[in-house]
Amino acid sequence: MIIALDGPAGAGKSTVARAVADRLNLTFLDTGAMYRGLTLAALQRGLDPLDEAACVQLANELELSFGEDGLVRIDGQAGEPDIRSATVTLTVSTVSAYRGVRDAVVSKQREIGLSVPGLVVEGRDTTTVVFPEAEYKFFLVASPTERARRRAAQEDREDEVDMILRDIERRDQLDTTRAHAPLRQAEDAILIDTDSRNIDSVVEEILACVGEPGATGSSDEASAGV
Ligand code: C5P
Repeated sequence: MIIALDGPAGAGKSTVARAVADRLNLTFLDTGAMYRGLTLAALQRGLDPLDEAACVQLANELELSFGEDGLVRIDGQAGEPDIRSATVTLTVSTVSAYRGVRDAVVSKQREIGLSVPGLVVEGRDTTTVVFPEAEYKFFLVASPTERARRRAAQEDREDEVDMILRDIERRDQLDTTRAHAPLRQAEDAILIDTDSRNIDSVVEEILACVGEPGATGSSDEASAGV
């Protein structure tokens, strides 16, 4: 079984997808972590992010995998927390827009999907391109200001909300307008607006769609806002 969630940065996909995977005992796959891992490796090797051929070559050579802890590994090395750095965040949408990069990373994601009995996957194109055959598809949205506020709270950067908002809007623009696999809602994806919702209620909505027994009960997950 595959449950796929797409949506823009800060809509709550990661938190919700992780909680759904825990509740259903399925594997969780953070596809953004793979693009971030590739971008980090490119920067560490001194590659120019505007050099498409070099980025594609690296995408084909690099080993992107996930450890027992579910966190991305880059040629066997831990990717966290460096893949979340400001420099990677600033560059990742450029590197991930190249067709050859996407072909290489998507094929790794499909390999992971085939290797496990069930998957909860989240990203920008998991419902449209990577797993269009997924049994359950969701598109999570929230207003840019709410998404920036959440990111600032998550990262303990409340005094930088404006800067985070500008980054979110810049990445939205790049991710929705790129030529290959742009972020868009799949026709058969269920739209969930997470503005003024907490994580529990979104998780329960998804579990109810998937038909988990007892999905209407309360969850053990933290009830912090997504
Ligand atoms: O999900 P996260 O914000 O970590 O993703 C970082 C970036 O990776 C996105 O802004 C997007 O440019 C790229 N990405 C992508 N396709 C995915 C997941 C992420 O292009 N499936």
